[in-house]
Amino acid sequence: MLTIIPNKEEFVLDVHNRLSEVYGAGISFHDLDPLSELVTTLLSHRTKNRDSAHAFQNLRNTFGSWENVRDADTDAIMAQLKPCTWPEQKAPRVKEVLRLITEKLGKLDLDFIGDIDVPTARQWLEELPGVGPKSSAAVISFSTLRGKALPVDSHHFRVAVRLGIIENKIGEGKANRVLENLLPPNFTAKQVFDHHQVMMRHGQKVCFHYKPNCAACVLLDLCPTGQSLVTVKSN
Ligand code: SF4
Repeated sequence: MLTIIPNKEEFVLDVHNRLSEVYGAGISFHDLDPLSELVTTLLSHRTKNRDSAHAFQNLRNTFGSWENVRDADTDAIMAQLKPCTWPEQKAPRVKEVLRLITEKLGKLDLDFIGDIDVPTARQWLEELPGVGPKSSAAVISFSTLRGKALPVDSHHFRVAVRLGIIENKIGEGKANRVLENLLPPNFTAKQVFDHHQVMMRHGQKVCFHYKPNCAACVLLDLCPTGQSLVTVKSN
């Protein structure tokens, strides 16, 4: 039977607590500086983590510094991005973003972001080409900045929609701020980071794009989609 929860904030907290019980152990922050984290987010679009990590390592091993990537031929960058989807688009994008950061700041370094407030930092980042809300939140949250911002990827988004927390029509971009505002205001940066991690893992391991495994889901009694899928199956 579907549990009625009085408001969305409590519902989201219940989801967070249940998923943290399942996936919470051992989630740790990344250890990349903000600029390196930005490059990983540019490589990660519609690419498996393993493949974007491979391409990122190729760039580091081949060029040695982000200044050298910025100054390299696009074809040479593209050759190192072969493990990713769309290296022909990502190579010029990475080069252009590195060039623009240098032009704006006079150097290739994003550590200043740690000295400004999160909304201002996200706005600054989102003015760069190819950097949307998910990427700006990832730079703030995943990097050594350890800031408070909620990235929402396709797995996280799918789980939130199926649970009825947000509507599909809102889109992944806008979902970042909407979902972040539903988290308890006293959540620490680490708890916000963990929330994304557990929602993403649930999408990867149980709430699959095709054929979600609702029978094995700890959220089934909360989930209108799961309830309807299980009902259809049993009829
Ligand atoms: S019950 Fe099914 S649809 Fe709902 S969150 Fe779980 S796996 Fe996804």
